[in-house]
Amino acid sequence: MEENSASASTAHVLIFPLPAQGHVNSMLKLAQLLALHNLHVTFLNTEYIHNRLTRFGNIQALSAASYPTLHFKTISDSYTENQHPGFGSSGIKDVFTSLSLYGKPLLREVLASQSAGIPKVSCIIVDGVFGSLATDVAAEFGIQLIHFRTISACCYWAYFCAPRLFETNELPIRGDDDMDRIIKNIPGMENLLRCRDLPSFYREGKEIDKPLSLDSIISMTLQSLEADAFILNTFDDLEGSVLSQIRLHFPKLFTLGPLHHHLNTRKTTSSEHPSNSFKSSLYEVDRSCMTWLDSQAKGSVIYVSFGSTTSMKKEQMMEIWHGLVNSNKRFLWVVRPDTVAGGIEGVAVEVEEGTKERGLIVGWVPQEEVLAHEAVGGFLTHSGWNSTLESVVAGVPMICWPYFADQQVNSRFVSEVWKLGLDMKDVCDRNVVEKMVNELMDGRREEFQRSAKKMALLANKSVSQGGSSHSNLDDLIGFIKSRGRG
Ligand code: UDP
Repeated sequence: MEENSASASTAHVLIFPLPAQGHVNSMLKLAQLLALHNLHVTFLNTEYIHNRLTRFGNIQALSAASYPTLHFKTISDSYTENQHPGFGSSGIKDVFTSLSLYGKPLLREVLASQSAGIPKVSCIIVDGVFGSLATDVAAEFGIQLIHFRTISACCYWAYFCAPRLFETNELPIRGDDDMDRIIKNIPGMENLLRCRDLPSFYREGKEIDKPLSLDSIISMTLQSLEADAFILNTFDDLEGSVLSQIRLHFPKLFTLGPLHHHLNTRKTTSSEHPSNSFKSSLYEVDRSCMTWLDSQAKGSVIYVSFGSTTSMKKEQMMEIWHGLVNSNKRFLWVVRPDTVAGGIEGVAVEVEEGTKERGLIVGWVPQEEVLAHEAVGGFLTHSGWNSTLESVVAGVPMICWPYFADQQVNSRFVSEVWKLGLDMKDVCDRNVVEKMVNELMDGRREEFQRSAKKMALLANKSVSQGGSSHSNLDDLIGFIKSRGRG
């Protein structure tokens, strides 16, 4: 298809993500990709998120000069800045509940409001976690509805197959001693997942604060069948066998990932849109880590980050810290101010003491840049889907310590299917951390490096001219334009 045709299209897409870092990151990449192809795109955000993007990410870099057809609108999530519940799993739950209750009329208002010189919205791309939120509204306005799930295909499919797992009596999970039982009835991944590898919401209660019940997860998952099309941030060479199962139910499935790399690739091949420095950060980025990395030897550093929502107990943090220090490897560790429930008072001092020699701890890093730095040789991650894809693109092997949601499935795929590293799920012990860090960085280094490099090449191929995600984006744009209204 023709790229960057000079005049803006009459199609206008409204993109609405769940207001959380991982969701905003990938959906904003898609917004830029569509705007790069001259579609009008309105990115709808909560005021709270938009303000943080303005403060900590430089949203002004997406100005009219670089993306004349990209617009931003905000709605309220019902919380004031001071009483906002934040991004932990319980904070997300509160905001999600509020938007599910009050979002519909707000969405209607946005669709009804016209901006001069911009065509009416012809398509909504809504975060699939909102389930039916946009279904009636899209029908009322007679516009196209597309669902975007920001999780892996393997996790989406594990959700989709939940009713079948209840029918075959493989669910529910019957207590802790059942966790190693093998799940047989997920087509395309038979006998691969143990109960402990199913999405965390399948587990009975206690350990983490569940943002949603399993029933609501199943119902929102199936709601995507009502949409006109479905988008996943993945690529066919990564999740082919699962995708072929999903395609049996979703004839209009567009796999566009890895979206961050897709955007970078399209920008560097477009003379009008040279790579810019926009970062969609919701936290203040500490760039001192880049200087620190510059002074480390090639492949010597293990980068440690558990994403934007993971929280842990003080004891868990201490186990990880001791394991890192005892491994004798250099490490760069992201510890957000809200990482440890109840604060890191008392822990911080000890961490500082122990890291002087070999480590650096910061509050938030430019992760894509960190993973691309030649000093980084491994990633201890919570297996969030964005982090996993970013590690795949950078060719960096992983140790996985999943926290919740899709992370339990992702980490199983990292270790058992893609052979890109080790899975440490459900264990937090300094000896295991030390052993796994050494295995990843020394013992099995070459083996993991080899498979990581191979997968990075496939990721690159998928977003390059002729690759599956590249052609799927062209098809998606054609699909949206075919219904565009003047
Ligand atoms: N991230 C970042 N700096 C950090 C830690 C994370 O920019 O110090 C970004 C990371 O690159 C990724 C996102 O935050 O794009 C986290 O998303 P992910 O899906 O991995 O996990 P979540 O935060 O949703 O649990």
